[in-house]
Amino acid sequence: MRRSRASITMRDSLADVKVRRDSLVMPVFVDENLREKKEIQEMRGIYRYDINSYRKHLDHLTANGIRNILLFGIPSHKDSTGSASYSSEGIVQKAIAIARENYSLNVMADLCLCEYTDTGQCGLIRNGAVDNDSTLKVYEKIALSYAQAGVNVIAPSGMMDGQVGVIRNALDTSGFNNTMIMAYSVKYASTLYNPFRYAADSAPREGDRKSYQMDYRRSQEWIDEIELDINEGADIIMVKPGLFYLDIVRSVRERFHKPLAVYSVSGEYVMIRNAIDSGFLPQETLEEYLYSFFRAGADLLITYFADYLTSGNVSLAAFR
Ligand SMILES: [Zn+2]
Repeated sequence: MRRSRASITMRDSLADVKVRRDSLVMPVFVDENLREKKEIQEMRGIYRYDINSYRKHLDHLTANGIRNILLFGIPSHKDSTGSASYSSEGIVQKAIAIARENYSLNVMADLCLCEYTDTGQCGLIRNGAVDNDSTLKVYEKIALSYAQAGVNVIAPSGMMDGQVGVIRNALDTSGFNNTMIMAYSVKYASTLYNPFRYAADSAPREGDRKSYQMDYRRSQEWIDEIELDINEGADIIMVKPGLFYLDIVRSVRERFHKPLAVYSVSGEYVMIRNAIDSGFLPQETLEEYLYSFFRAGADLLITYFADYLTSGNVSLAAFR
């Protein structure tokens, strides 16, 4: 076996897993309450942006070859119905329009209510619990407002049953046949989301999300979730989180042919970033991290490292 590993040129030539800049998706937080960008304390190097600094951030990302962003909004107003989420003047709607008008980017936008409700839950509360069907009505309104702003891909993350179908139908009947849906098909209830909840100010005020996110102790449930989403019209399917779930990524790849995104979440970023910054792991770890997803079968990788990886901070063989 060693003959094929003896030289760097041979190793590079035989590496069959490729990583490309345009396979990366950078999450971007836009915050209506800010006047300038603000670093998220729990996620070093990741910021919330006001509209002006957001434009500069897009200049920077696109100059480095990033082709995909995934938008999250933090509104100035929260209430029990999450009404700021579907305003045509909302922060995400504005950010979508700016990105589409001025940059050559695939603009993806997260669709959920947890940033917009005063409860921090992903849906409307009825009788003390998240009510699936009344929540879907709001998701429809959000989807149409995003489509009107010009979004390329809508990414509903709330894990309400039927959300993909309802959004697809609303888009089609309003003439937005070309707007794509990236379904958070396989989304486990995970502690690895914790840093994100500070980033997006979306922590549930009480309780957790285990009644609608998946139980990681079940190994086959993902098949039903993906079949449902594909039948409802998903264009891209997703597995989230990434690192602890690469077995699932591989299994999805073998069973389904839809484009597959993996969301390497905030907790993964924090673990690796902190270990590198404090010298416990070398920067080379990032390369190994990056390849693991594409070797497992991802087509797209949503990662908070997308900016860092393409900004010349690391000398990655992948991007040389
Ligand atoms: Zn949510």
